[in-house]
Amino acid sequence: MNRDFSAANRIVVKVGTSALTYETGKLNFYRIDRLARDLCDLKNRGKEVLLVSSGAIAAGVNRLHLPQKPDTVSGRQAMACVGQSALMELYNKCFADYGYNAGQFLLTKDVFDNAERKKNFQNTVEEMLKYNVIPVINENDSISIEEIKFGDNDNLSSLVARLVHADLLILLSDIDGVYDKDPRSNADARLIHTVEDLSAEIKCDKSAKPGALGTGGIYTKITACADAARNGIDAVVANSKNMNVIYDILEGKDVGTYFVGDKKNGR
Ligand code: ADP
Repeated sequence: MNRDFSAANRIVVKVGTSALTYETGKLNFYRIDRLARDLCDLKNRGKEVLLVSSGAIAAGVNRLHLPQKPDTVSGRQAMACVGQSALMELYNKCFADYGYNAGQFLLTKDVFDNAERKKNFQNTVEEMLKYNVIPVINENDSISIEEIKFGDNDNLSSLVARLVHADLLILLSDIDGVYDKDPRSNADARLIHTVEDLSAEIKCDKSAKPGALGTGGIYTKITACADAARNGIDAVVANSKNMNVIYDILEGKDVGTYFVGDKKNGR
């Protein structure tokens, strides 16, 4: 299946904690800066970009120089408070180097259950894009309780992509894409290049746990991309370790797993 994303104008990029940190748990400044540069460069090309970013808790742990993340919910929520502002500081610093600004959205699921708040979100995004601001979106981990939690930024990113009528959703993780089985424990796992038939069950172990730093795991990436694709949005899961990943995707190279957007349902 040929990939052609040259016409994709509005792009949502989601980065997982595993894409923003080293295995040591420390922030990967190199990759964060490169991500910021690529997003700003896309803006210069005339694209509209939105970033859904995880990593607040990891950033908080880093900022307070803790050896690991707290094992209580309230401890992690406190880390999210510290880390979210640290992360925004970092994004703003990096974006500013390339002439752009970030604007922050912290969301909970109930925002999308309420028509008025949902509309407000959409209107504010449009305004931010008019001002050339790069919206940076995360779940509001500090106050989220089970009832209002998305639980993972993968599904948050597909919801955002739908609400803003994005053309392309890119999920960046620490893995080359979706494999038919967990590649950590199966040496013969094979990368799935394209998912066209969204009704077909994707053959992979849905219970596979996320990596040490991740939260959603591969299953939430599959459901998020399938949801976007069903709604007409092309979606790609790819590896942020490839520093050119965003450009490779936009050039139509065969990287990651491509969920083909159902054009019948496109905008
Ligand atoms: P992120 O922080 O980017 O959201 P996660 O750790 O939540 O990342 O999910 C990605 C991880 O899921 C990969 O590093 C991989 O080890 C694991 N995984 C389990 N099963 C699969 C599979 N079938 N295909 C790809 N990755 C898988």
